Amino acid sequence: MLNKHGNIQNFIGCDASYDDAKIVIFGAPFDSTTSNRPGARFGPAAIRNDSYGLETYSPYQDFDMDGAPIYDAGDIELPFGNPQPAMDAIDAAASAILGDGKVPVMLGGEHLLTYGAIRAALRLYPDLHIIHLDAHTDLRQDYLGEIYSHATVIRLCHEMLGDGKIHQFGIRSGTKEEFEWSVGRVNMQKYTLCGFNKLAQTLADAKTPVYFTLDLDVLDPSAFPGTGTPEAGGVSFAALLEAICALKQLKVVGCDVMELAPNLDTSSISTAIACKILRELLITLL
Ligand code: MN
Ligand code: MN
Repeated sequence: MLNKHGNIQNFIGCDASYDDAKIVIFGAPFDSTTSNRPGARFGPAAIRNDSYGLETYSPYQDFDMDGAPIYDAGDIELPFGNPQPAMDAIDAAASAILGDGKVPVMLGGEHLLTYGAIRAALRLYPDLHIIHLDAHTDLRQDYLGEIYSHATVIRLCHEMLGDGKIHQFGIRSGTKEEFEWSVGRVNMQKYTLCGFNKLAQTLADAKTPVYFTLDLDVLDPSAFPGTGTPEAGGVSFAALLEAICALKQLKVVGCDVMELAPNLDTSSISTAIACKILRELLITLL
C-alpha cells in the first residue's frame, strides 16, 4: 500500500505533499531472488539516510531541488521469499502513482521488481520503450528453473513489449544463449554507454514514453562494490552521470535505481554514489 500521508524520513529535499508532487519516490526493500550476495533490501533505507550528506544543489545541472515537487512515500511492505505478490505490490504502487499523473521512482531492492513497475507503466503507455543500464543481460528464460528472478527480469519485460523496444547499455555478462537470443530482439551496447545520447535524441524526437531502469552494478566495482553481483570492467561515475543528464530531453514516465546492497561496502562510497545519481536523476524528471 502506497503511503500518501507523509513520511518521517525522506530522500533529501523531497518533502512535498503527495498532492503537490510531480514525482513520487518509493522504496522496494526486497532481495529474495538474489543469487550471489544478498543485501539489496537495505538499499532504500541507506539511500535516504546517507542522502543527508549530499547538497540539494546540483552544480552539474545548476539546479537546487530544495522545495521541488517530489514526495517520498517511504518503503512498500513486501512479503519476503515470494516474488509474485511482491511484484503485484510494486505494480499496485506504481499504478496508483501513474494514475494520479505522477512519475514513479522506485528505489531497490533487487532488479526483478522492475517487472512490476514496467507492467504498470505499459498499461498506460502501450508504446513504452525501456532504457536498461546493467552489467548483466538479465535475459535468462529461467534461473535454476525459476522464471521470476533478478536474472530474468528483462526477458520478462521483452515478453510484454516485443522486439526493438528495449535498449541495453554497459552489458558485459550473461550466458552465450542470452547474447545469442538478444540479437534482433533487444538493442544491446556492450561494455560502455556509447550511443546513449544518440538514442535519447531519437526517442525524444519521436516523443516516445520511456521507462529508465538502472541496475547500479553497471558501474565499475572499483567505484561501486556495494552490490550483489559485482562485475569487473564497468562504466565510470562520470559516464553514468552524463547519460543521466541526457534523460532530461526524454519523456520518462517511470524509473528505478536498483541493486545497491549497502552492507557489502563498509566504506559507504557505493551508497554515496547511489544518492548522487538519484539526485541528478530526480532533477532531470522535474
Ligand atoms: Mn546486474
Ligand atoms: Mn539487473
